[in-house]
Amino acid sequence: MKPIIIVGGGLAGCEAAWQLTRRGNEATLVDMKPDKRSPAHRSPRLAELVCSNSLRSNDPASAAGLLKEEMRRLDSLVIASADATAVPSGKALAVDRVLFSERIERVLLGQRGLRIVREECREIPGGAHVILATGPLTSAPLAAAIADLVGQQSLYFYDAIAPIVDASTIDRTKVFRASRYDAGEGDYLNCPLDEEQYRSFRLAVLGGRDIPARAFEDERYFEGCLPVEVLARRGEDTLRFGPMKPVGLVDPCTGREPYAVVQLRQENREGTLFNMVGFQTRLARPEQERIFRTIPGLGKAEFLRFGSIHRNTYIHAPTLLTDTLQLRANPDLIFAGQITGVEGYVESAATGLLAGLFLDRIRRGLPFSPPPRTTALGALLGHVSSPGGKGYQPMNINFGIFEPLGPGVRKRDRGERYRQRSLAALEEWKCRSVGTPPP
Ligand SMILES: Cc1cc2nc3c(=O)[nH]c(=O)nc-3n(C[C@H](O)[C@H](O)[C@H](O)COP(=O)(O)OP(=O)(O)OC[C@H]3O[C@@H](n4cnc5c(N)ncnc54)[C@H](O)[C@@H]3O)c2cc1C
Repeated sequence: MKPIIIVGGGLAGCEAAWQLTRRGNEATLVDMKPDKRSPAHRSPRLAELVCSNSLRSNDPASAAGLLKEEMRRLDSLVIASADATAVPSGKALAVDRVLFSERIERVLLGQRGLRIVREECREIPGGAHVILATGPLTSAPLAAAIADLVGQQSLYFYDAIAPIVDASTIDRTKVFRASRYDAGEGDYLNCPLDEEQYRSFRLAVLGGRDIPARAFEDERYFEGCLPVEVLARRGEDTLRFGPMKPVGLVDPCTGREPYAVVQLRQENREGTLFNMVGFQTRLARPEQERIFRTIPGLGKAEFLRFGSIHRNTYIHAPTLLTDTLQLRANPDLIFAGQITGVEGYVESAATGLLAGLFLDRIRRGLPFSPPPRTTALGALLGHVSSPGGKGYQPMNINFGIFEPLGPGVRKRDRGERYRQRSLAALEEWKCRSVGTPPP
């Protein structure tokens, strides 16, 4: 039998190693720490939280909380360790980051069948079942090897992310549907601004608090991908000639082109998500909410993803991976963690968990399938593997990527309905595709 090599001992790699070895597989986990560290990693330990100590909401009626609950039901090491090292933080699950990493490392060091090797992996190992989980800051030699394998154009090193809005919270009476110069079928929702609204919006952007770049993050942006606040600083009309350009868009209410527009583009097939076109930003999240809600039509918008710009190594998973995270061109190679284009600690651990479960089934020659898209785990996999356009971008878990609920569910009941539907589907999938590990 081929050996199993897991490259990267972060959240995804540790979770994959745990799921595999507790089912009786032998595996080697390779991490370059402590001799070599990415610019963001400080601790010598495995499973380091590089920034915030919060794993976000723990409420199972929220998307992030539901993902955790599903992982709990699949005996996730990361979630069990977070629960065991939690610090008070209201409805969120925040941890003592030192105790958290220590616990994960201690459990894995004691895990029968697991060998932990501390060295940089500079090439993709051959002749093995490999789980690649080296994260958003994969070291340069390995990133080059991945680029060689998947093609330079399918590996990204930067995120320039625009916010995503919950479609049901857009005020349709204030926006109009149209494509520029009437091309297509009116594919965009356009939020029209008059001159006064535009000027005060620009001033708000200029006054907004932004998140400074980290020392290792080069602030030289691509000209075609500039943050809105940088454009706003360049001049009074720069935004109006850039992402807020009204040319070719006639507002049916006035019969004229507005002074400026914000365009919203449908993000998913179901039409539950809309992307603010060209609105990549470094503004702090509360500032995005405050300022972008002044845009006509977005007064009550709920932001399912906020804009951001940061360093991030990830592949174009929808074209490269199957819905079981295997590389289409070489199914022995499985990707997990943030490198697949999920975003966040828990999301990364979740794909590590799935990679471990899938590989266990592969090795046993047992049938398996991805969890249904009514579950949080299935929704994440759906994001990673759905054939999308070329604009693939990392995504946190949110209800917008779940299979939509039927009509007629009141907004305040949605979270609970998602929870019930998901946990029932998860139990069924577990019986069919996971099996029980030996005691
Ligand atoms: C600066 C920064 C801040 C972030 N802040 C947050 C936040 O506040 N909240 C949040 O939810 N998410 C945050 N993220 C995203 C977060 O990093 C990921 O969500 C999560 O840690 C990714 O998990 P992972 O297992 O994919 O990668 P990681 O946890 O980064 O683990 C990858 C591991 O691979 C190892 N490695 C890399 N290259 C090699 C190699 N060639 N050979 C051997 N080992 C290698 C590294 O040492 C590391 O231990 C942040 C990311 C960055 C870069």
